[in-house]
Amino acid sequence: MKLFNKEYRAITIGLGVIIIAIIALGIYGYNRLESLSSRINGLSINVESLTNSVASTTSTLQTAINQTHSSLADALTAQQQNVGNIQQQLGGFQSQVGSLSGTLNNLQKLAQTDPELLKKYSKVYFLNENYVPVNLSEIPKAYQYSDSKQLLFLTQALPHLLAMIDAASSTGIKLYVESAYRSYFEQKALKGDYTMTYGAGTANSFSADQGYSEHQLGTAVDMLTPGLGGVLDDSFDGTKAFQWMLQNAYRYGFELSYPKNNGYYVYEPWHWRFVGVKLATELHDERKNFYDLDQRTIDTYLVNIFD
Ligand SMILES: [Zn+2]
Repeated sequence: MKLFNKEYRAITIGLGVIIIAIIALGIYGYNRLESLSSRINGLSINVESLTNSVASTTSTLQTAINQTHSSLADALTAQQQNVGNIQQQLGGFQSQVGSLSGTLNNLQKLAQTDPELLKKYSKVYFLNENYVPVNLSEIPKAYQYSDSKQLLFLTQALPHLLAMIDAASSTGIKLYVESAYRSYFEQKALKGDYTMTYGAGTANSFSADQGYSEHQLGTAVDMLTPGLGGVLDDSFDGTKAFQWMLQNAYRYGFELSYPKNNGYYVYEPWHWRFVGVKLATELHDERKNFYDLDQRTIDTYLVNIFD
C-alpha cells in the first residue's frame, strides 16, 4: 500500500508537472498566436494601403498617358495641317511661277512683234510715212498674177499667204496676188497716177492716200483671179475665188478689211489683210469687221498673230 502511495504520488506530481507544462506552453502559444495575428492584421492593412496607392498611381499614370496621347495626337494633327498648308502654298507658288513664265513668254513674243501689224489704217487712221516693215520676202512668181514685178510680203506672214493660195488651188480655185507691200512713196506715186488719169475727186475714193494704206505694213494683198482682165474692181466679188476667200481666208489669218458699206473706206473685195488666224477666225465666226472692233480689243490678238 505504501509503495502504491509512493508511486501514486510520483505519478500525480509527474502529471501535475506535465499539466503545468502544457498550460505554460498553451499560454505561450496563445501569446504567440496573438502577436502573429496582430502582425498579420498589420500586414493586411499595409497590403490594403499599398493596393490603394498602386490604384491611385495607376490612375494618375493613366490620366497622364491619356493627356500625353491626346496632346500628341493634337500635335500630329497640327503638323499634318501645317504640311497641308505648306503643300497648298507650294502648289499656289508653282502655279504662280507657271503663269509668270507664261506671261514672260508672251512679253518676249510681244517685244518681238511689231505692234503696227494690228493697227487700223484707213482714211481715219494714219501710218507714219517712215514706217517700213522689219523684214520682207519676195512672193514666188508662181503666186503672182503678173510676173513682171517683184512683190514683197512680210516674211513671217508669207507662209500663211502661200498656204491659202495652195488650198484654193487644190479645190480648183485660181487665186493670184496682184499687189502686196507698197512703200509710202510707191503709194504716193500710185495715187499720183490715179490722180492724173481720173482727176483728184475719183483718186481719193480709188486708192488710199499715201500713209493711209494697209499695203505699207507688208501684210495686205490685192487678189485677182483669171477672167477679170487683170483689173481690180468690184466684179471680183462675183467670182468663185471671192466666195472661196469669204469662206476660207480666215483659216489662214486673212480678213476682208473694207467690206461693203464699211464706214472707213471704199468697198474693196480684192483687198485682204493678214491679222493672224485667231483674230481672223473670231471675226469670221462672229460676223464682225476688223475696223469695227476697238483697237484695245484688237491689240490682245497681237501676241498670237503668227500662231
Ligand atoms: Zn489693197
